[in-house]
Amino acid sequence: MKYQKPKGTADILADESTKWQYVEEKARELFKKYRYHEMRTPIFENFEVFSRTSGETSDIVTKEMYDFHDKGDRHITLRPEGTAGVVRSFVENKLYGPEYQKPYKVYYMGPMFRYERPQSGRLREFHQIGVEAFGVDNPTLDVEVIAMAIDLLKSVEINSLKLVINTLGDIETRQNYRQALIDYLEPFEDQLSEDSKERMHKNPLRVLDSKDENDQKIVENAPSILDFLTDNSKKHFETVKSLLDDLGIKYEIDANMVRGLDYYNHTIFEIMSDSKAFGGKWTTVCAGGRYNGLVEQLGGPATPGVGFGLGVERLLLILNTEKDKLPLDDDLDVYVVGIGNETNAKSLEIVQALRQQGFSADRDYLNRKPKGQFKTASRLAAKYTITIGEREIAENKANIKDMASGQENSVNLDDILNNFENVIK
Ligand code: ATP
Ligand code: MG
Repeated sequence: MKYQKPKGTADILADESTKWQYVEEKARELFKKYRYHEMRTPIFENFEVFSRTSGETSDIVTKEMYDFHDKGDRHITLRPEGTAGVVRSFVENKLYGPEYQKPYKVYYMGPMFRYERPQSGRLREFHQIGVEAFGVDNPTLDVEVIAMAIDLLKSVEINSLKLVINTLGDIETRQNYRQALIDYLEPFEDQLSEDSKERMHKNPLRVLDSKDENDQKIVENAPSILDFLTDNSKKHFETVKSLLDDLGIKYEIDANMVRGLDYYNHTIFEIMSDSKAFGGKWTTVCAGGRYNGLVEQLGGPATPGVGFGLGVERLLLILNTEKDKLPLDDDLDVYVVGIGNETNAKSLEIVQALRQQGFSADRDYLNRKPKGQFKTASRLAAKYTITIGEREIAENKANIKDMASGQENSVNLDDILNNFENVIK
């Protein structure tokens, strides 16, 4: 019997995980500058946390949920996205209280689960890095969140990007627009895909997000939500645009963009890439927006919110096509070569002492001949080799070689064990 990983999952092996760490470290550095702190919520939540928030007609709820009943018959879901769990935690821990600074800013990174048809850039277990900021309705924060997402992609040197924005307005906006959209779609009802037929009356905005090509043609000429904005919504969107202009951030407006989740309002955005990794086809790497009703929906007091989620696998697909750029830190400072069986304990003492002093160190464990050990040292590109034999141990000495210059010296073993920094000076 052969064991294989489940469909749509991936093993991230050593070479690849170095890149993941690089991205994660860059993200943490950036979030520190913007003063976002990490929040770690459970990988699974009660089913309702997602079913109540993502929208009953969304793909996530209708098709993609990894849900099951546990041994206590609780309905559980592996999280398909990060925001709902963070909001659940925000409410449960009363992070809206007066003792907390507004906006309350958090980030997360970790696995998400969606039952999708696996393909390049689409997995069943994938990873997101995301942020949420609560308690401020000011459009300046929308712009800062967008700027931060762009900053994040730039910090890992991804450039083939475009920013697409839209607004979904407030509730009144969407009520007015909803009817206009139904009126427009009704004559096409027979031609729409099954999904869209179903969604047309329940949630017509969802039809705009259809992946069906024929649906997409039909909605091309649909009325624009931008013509239905209330004064307030219009003002919010105008401010977002003018602040983006002020920061010199370029954007396109796509009035048909709605996002896959139901909880958004006002500003929504996607950052897309036409990298070779996607065959030059514009693909969304990062997406987000404002979700002012969500905290209330999960039982908290009315609290505005805004955030984004970035797909790590998609980001790495782009990075991998520009691989030579990645500054991967896998240096070996010292390789210890032991000659003869009697050197085993001392070799161990040396590598341990070096590691304690902050150096990376490696050695042989297979009693190989010196020649084989030296070969390994150069294959690992060790900066130094330290060689000991029985005689060296008896004299409390070791031979040290600087691999770059080829220079060799005999040094006191105690100096290596206590102050290697000084030895290599
Ligand atoms: P799509 O339209 O591609 O299905 P979505 O609207 O479902 O995207 P979001 O829920 O906004 O996507 O997720 C944000 C980001 O997370 C996406 O832009 C993408 O980078 C990533 N993502 C979403 N689903 C997957 C998946 N199944 N596999 C890998 N990455 C994903
Ligand atoms: Mg999706």
